[in-house]
Amino acid sequence: MPDNNNPLVLVTGGSGFIAVHIILKLLEQGYLVRTTLRTMSRQDEVKGMLRSGGVHQLEGLSFIEADLSSDTNWEAAAEGADYVIHVASPTPNKVYKHEDEMIRPAREGVLRVLRAARDAGVKRVVLTSAFGAIGVGHKHHKGPYTEKDWSNTDADIHPYQKSKTIAEKAAWEFIRREGNRLELATVNPVGVMGPILGNDYSHSNGSVRQMLESNQKYVPKIYSDYVDVRDVADLHILAMLRPEANGERFIASSAENLSMLDIAAILRKHLGEDAKNVPKAEFPNFIVRAIAVVNPKLRMVASLLGQDMSTSNQKARQLLGWTPRPAEEAIAATGKSMIDIIKGPSV
Ligand code: NAP
Repeated sequence: MPDNNNPLVLVTGGSGFIAVHIILKLLEQGYLVRTTLRTMSRQDEVKGMLRSGGVHQLEGLSFIEADLSSDTNWEAAAEGADYVIHVASPTPNKVYKHEDEMIRPAREGVLRVLRAARDAGVKRVVLTSAFGAIGVGHKHHKGPYTEKDWSNTDADIHPYQKSKTIAEKAAWEFIRREGNRLELATVNPVGVMGPILGNDYSHSNGSVRQMLESNQKYVPKIYSDYVDVRDVADLHILAMLRPEANGERFIASSAENLSMLDIAAILRKHLGEDAKNVPKAEFPNFIVRAIAVVNPKLRMVASLLGQDMSTSNQKARQLLGWTPRPAEEAIAATGKSMIDIIKGPSV
């Protein structure tokens, strides 16, 4: 049984890939966790994901219904919380008709959460931002991106990345103007991979499923950094606890720049026969751009062609002693859990 005097952490969006891993670590470390869901009907699914992650004692976990687009329940969600980890935000899992469908809930949601946290006397909010708020929309950037960089929202960038940049800027502005004593830190992950604990997995793992399932021979020429979800969860907790994290942004990255072909090679190495059909060559960029005109799901991919998205993880390593595992381990873990999802439960 958890001790009812232990610190209480509000984690927003408990149904999400990253949030579940954060909740797992918090429960393992004895914290009480309250998490928000858009619909309470998903409670059992979240509990199931936590059990598959190895946590069976769930007495310390409670749920509350809240949507980023509505004021309802945010005050109650934050009441009595010592810390808030704000993870929920619209992600490219769905196709949105207008960019405001992503930007408004992201920006207004972060403000709702911060206001509720401040009014409830929460010590610190950790916001899950993204590399998308750091390194997109720049044509001539030199060297790896660091926490000093901000994405250029005047450039033609994907609405998801715009939403993350606008929401994070709004958060810092809120703290500066009306945060009172509330503290803020952000974690800005690159592409997050790692063990998937349920059938609802994030957009970042979707490309692996596509490689494993679709028999496609080619991949787009995109180079990106990756990080394991378990390390992302650790970094959130370090950012929540460590005094030196207050007021800081932290890139969560293993700082290895990999192409999609590199990912395919890692899948072949770790999954053997299960990955025999993964792509072995790259599409010319003009073909991807042409397909993206008619297929909105490819627009984000097209916007990343030819971009150098390498990152530095020195700040989190040096300031917080964070030590992420290699990207290969994260990608292999995504691949293995994706194969289990594709094959389904054995009867
Ligand atoms: P995910 O599995 O799609 O999780 C997104 C979460 O946000 C879900 O719980 C979702 O709830 C919730 N959400 C979306 N719109 C909402 C709304 N209007 N009101 C309340 N909740 C809402 O994706 P994820 O990868 O775990 O992403 C979590 C966070 O990490 C996001 O802030 C994302 O931007 C950030 N991030 C992810 C990556 C990555 O590579 N995966 C990289 C950088 C940053 P439902 O389940 O009800 O839809």
